[in-house]
Amino acid sequence: MSATPGYVSKKTGVRWVPVIGLEVHCQLGTRTKLFCGCEVQFGSPPNSLTCAVCTAQPGTLPVLNREALELAVRAALALGCEVRTKSKFDRKNYFYCDLPKGYQISQYDEPYCTGGGIQLSNGRFIRLTRIHMEEDAGKAIHDRGSTTLVDLNRAGVPLIESVTEADVTTAAEAVEYLTTLKAILQYVGVSDCDMEKGELRCDVNISMRPEGEPWRTKVEIKNLNSFRFVEAAIEHEAWRQIEAYESGDPKLFPVQETRLWDPARNVTRTMRSKESAHDYRYFAEPDLPPVTISKVEIERLRGCIPELPHARRERYQKELGLSAYDAGVLTASRALADFFEVVARLSQKPKDAANWIANDLAREFADATLGVPNVDAMAMKPNDLAELIRLVDEGAVNVAGARKVLRVLMKDGGRPKELVKTLGLEQVQDEGQLEAWCKEALVGKEKIVADVKAGKTQALNALLGPVMKASKGTANPERVKEILLRLVQGA
Ligand SMILES: [Zn+2]
Repeated sequence: MSATPGYVSKKTGVRWVPVIGLEVHCQLGTRTKLFCGCEVQFGSPPNSLTCAVCTAQPGTLPVLNREALELAVRAALALGCEVRTKSKFDRKNYFYCDLPKGYQISQYDEPYCTGGGIQLSNGRFIRLTRIHMEEDAGKAIHDRGSTTLVDLNRAGVPLIESVTEADVTTAAEAVEYLTTLKAILQYVGVSDCDMEKGELRCDVNISMRPEGEPWRTKVEIKNLNSFRFVEAAIEHEAWRQIEAYESGDPKLFPVQETRLWDPARNVTRTMRSKESAHDYRYFAEPDLPPVTISKVEIERLRGCIPELPHARRERYQKELGLSAYDAGVLTASRALADFFEVVARLSQKPKDAANWIANDLAREFADATLGVPNVDAMAMKPNDLAELIRLVDEGAVNVAGARKVLRVLMKDGGRPKELVKTLGLEQVQDEGQLEAWCKEALVGKEKIVADVKAGKTQALNALLGPVMKASKGTANPERVKEILLRLVQGA
């Protein structure tokens, strides 16, 4: 278990404990919208993906997209939720220009699933209250002076909203929960969860209380589209609430409201006072029949759930002998884990494959210096990396040279064997040549020779650099050390 969570006030010495719940909207990866046949596509010209249904023309009727229901159920099963064979849609009434119907079709008191949750690495379990299906609203664009433009391409796009109990107690736990949730949703093929396209959006509910005291007013921070913002928003909001309470002025105490995170100024600010459920006048959607799914169908979908990240992580450690760190990096995305498994199989060297992918590849992705953000955008295929691993193993190229080849492979692709040649990285196997470089490096190095003879063999390392330089990096460092030692001892 982690240390006692909380924030200790410098002013009063009181330990304040956060109570945090998370709501996550995830866009389902369907081809078409939730209640009509319009395509779902990011970045299309405004209002080009619309029809009479999703623009709310009179007399039109919604029809449930069965693919959306199946994806929603897969998500629920992967998260350990209980799927209901019967649920219903409701109307959530509110007015806004991006919502032509004047209501959003959502699920209120009979969502399609309840329960489930996510296990964190510190042993705590974050319970899910429920997941429900709903349609997305359109997009209002206010950036043209006094004009507001409306794009309805997003109106009717299928979403699931997952809601946790208030089990989260730190910003770090919130980030781990979200990272794990995202990985699971990607693994089961429910969504790409591309946060830059708004496919995953988080709302944070947070209230602060002195340790041991009852819960206080909760504040909602809405539409956080990066995990870094989630972390920063929680940190900021925690201290904002603590300072407000410790001011002693009730007029400054937190009120039930919705706030927005301002990443430019690193603060949360008021968006609107928070509506309660009764403000939305929910009622059952009269245009849609109840949602039904048979037990047989649920079990069929359960059978399609692939191996999930935590199971893969354990398997990599147990069966392949990988470190917890490497296993964690490799399973962070399904694409990366799949890539690793192919390389491991083709090269027959799972540990080397893990090393290259969890370190070199992951570092390039993190830096994105090559403009390659992930496995899918990379020119290198698994068999290329497997071949490179084999070349290193056979001594055809050393590790430093292989790293250069890797960078070219990732960005432009190609055949590793040919790249080793064209980049002039073939490891020198010629003993005579290696010995000549070593002899050259030993000239005038009597002190080192004496040290080595006295048993300090690590003194040879100082000569390794000059030899590697003379060989333009193509010598095998291990072989060079052997030759140097032989020369010194023979001298
Ligand atoms: Zn439509």
